[in-house]
Amino acid sequence: AIVFPLQKLERYLAPGTDTARFRLFQPGLAALQRAEALFRSDRGHPIDYVSSAVRMEHAPPPALPEVCFIGRSNVGKSSLIRALFSLAPEVEIRVSKTPGHTKKMNFFKVGKFFTLVDMPGYGYRAPQDFVEMVEAYLQERHNLKRTFLLVDGVVGLQKTDHIAVEMLEEFGIPYVMVLTKIDRASRGLLLKNVLEIQEFVKENTQGCFPQLFLVSSVEFSGVHLLRCFVAHVTGNLPTVEAR
Ligand code: GDP
Repeated sequence: AIVFPLQKLERYLAPGTDTARFRLFQPGLAALQRAEALFRSDRGHPIDYVSSAVRMEHAPPPALPEVCFIGRSNVGKSSLIRALFSLAPEVEIRVSKTPGHTKKMNFFKVGKFFTLVDMPGYGYRAPQDFVEMVEAYLQERHNLKRTFLLVDGVVGLQKTDHIAVEMLEEFGIPYVMVLTKIDRASRGLLLKNVLEIQEFVKENTQGCFPQLFLVSSVEFSGVHLLRCFVAHVTGNLPTVEAR
């Protein structure tokens, strides 16, 4: 349940429910271990915050495969990035939440393997320059392999999430939905949200990976699988078959 939280829900579904989408990415132990090693820093494999940028000109050179994390404010993005980097405790996750404070893209480098970008949280009143920054990044960043769109697992898709989906669909870039805070939702509510979002993805999206990723940064469920998926999409899991 900690490694595959989505599959844990399967047994509560009516018989005959199509659960193929629950297990499209189902790595074995070797792949999970490889991903853990990738996220564990040591002297020969530093994991660190690199820099922040407000404009694309200030982004580090696009030398490595990259993934980015986006989501509305309070969705649990900083908590998740902290959980992903828990094996590299020296990594400093900068959070700028003061209202009116300039929001930045924060770049983290995982050895010589990939970069991970924490995009500023968006909301109803995102200023235009912020929208332009995110849009420019998503459209121009050629080394961007996958965008992780965080959605609150307790409340499901909100209006701002739909705006983000529309943007990603318009740009035609591949993305994945990650349901956060699953420890807070009852099993019934979580299942309802999962099935609704899965249906939405099936009917309304082209670029979204059909399997949802469920995480709790408190209980750590889903974090190992997400690390493994990041390793996979950045080309660092040569032994796992992509389906
Ligand atoms: P951000 O604005 O997207 O960076 O959100 P934060 O990571 O700061 O989280 C917003 C709030 O949700 C904080 O009070 C967190 O403690 C809480 N939170 C984040 N992730 C989880 C989670 O997995 N489980 C629970 N129970 N609370 C969470």
